[in-house]
Amino acid sequence: MFSRRKFIKTTALSASLLAIDKKSVAGLLPPALNAAVKPIVISTWDFGIAANQAAWKTLISGGKALDAVEQGVRVPEADPKNQSVGYGGLPDRDGHVTLDACIMDEAGNCGSVAGLEHIMHPISVARMVMEKTPHVMLVGDGALQFALENGFKKEKLLTKESEKAWKEWLKTAKYAPVMNIENKLYDKSAPQKLPGNQYNHDTIGMLAIDSHGNISGACTTSGMAYKLHGRVGDSPIIGAGLYVDNEVGGATSTGVGEEVIRNVGSFLVVELMRQGYSPEDACKEAVMRIIRKKPETAKNIQVGFLALNKKGEYGAYAIQKGFSYAVCTEQKTDLLIPGKSYY
Ligand code: ASP
Repeated sequence: MFSRRKFIKTTALSASLLAIDKKSVAGLLPPALNAAVKPIVISTWDFGIAANQAAWKTLISGGKALDAVEQGVRVPEADPKNQSVGYGGLPDRDGHVTLDACIMDEAGNCGSVAGLEHIMHPISVARMVMEKTPHVMLVGDGALQFALENGFKKEKLLTKESEKAWKEWLKTAKYAPVMNIENKLYDKSAPQKLPGNQYNHDTIGMLAIDSHGNISGACTTSGMAYKLHGRVGDSPIIGAGLYVDNEVGGATSTGVGEEVIRNVGSFLVVELMRQGYSPEDACKEAVMRIIRKKPETAKNIQVGFLALNKKGEYGAYAIQKGFSYAVCTEQKTDLLIPGKSYY
């Protein structure tokens, strides 16, 4: 299926979305939107298309990038067919669905949760950590307690499909990466079936610029399937899975989080852009750090970075082929772009 997506997809706008665009441009938008600043939202993987469209509704009505990224990533979080984010995510090896998420705004405020169970929208809990506490990160039971005290509902996140896949995996219990099977698994025309000895991962990382020129980002995942209970990846770690600096731009990552953490990947990408690297070159250099340090490991894992600079330029780079990202602007609402890769 993926070969079809090797081409830039410029699917026609849906009539309803077009209607929103016209109405907004006609009068609802703040003056800045009609000037130099153009809102944009980008996010990782094919499932970023639907997430971007949700974010776009906020951006096109003059809303804040922070609200847009939160609303955007809530879409895959609530989608049971997506087995690597939120509800329906594949569990750890003990059968617990544990979620990681973080969010960061244009002022450098950030919030994060890790190892959060039973809550469908970890991104909204992360935002609440940012806005209602003096802290940045809450984990495990403490994060759950905080969520429940703040009105979030306790829900069962393990779906029948994910439970079945986990039980199948338990037969061999082999933790061995299979690269780039995620797009196929997510494809509605492909069977939603995981071979027993395989696992998948993937994260939605989203970056947006609003009509005021402010950048925010969000990142949310169920992490590596069949991980050790208590394992935390890069996704909820500010600087690793996500980083935003309103002077420069933002970056986010997907793939084997341990390698991203070791290189403080998203912070590195933003700092490289500060030095003048284009978003794609910055992502490439961050990938090369991983490859140079551990060439043998890198051969068999996937890590991808996605970046957006202050001018609205974007780019991505991954270790392996198969990484894709979605872009939504005034011109294109559902553009899917294959990220360049080392292999
Ligand atoms: N980065 C995520 C993690 O390590 C997984 C992924 O994006 O594939 O938990």
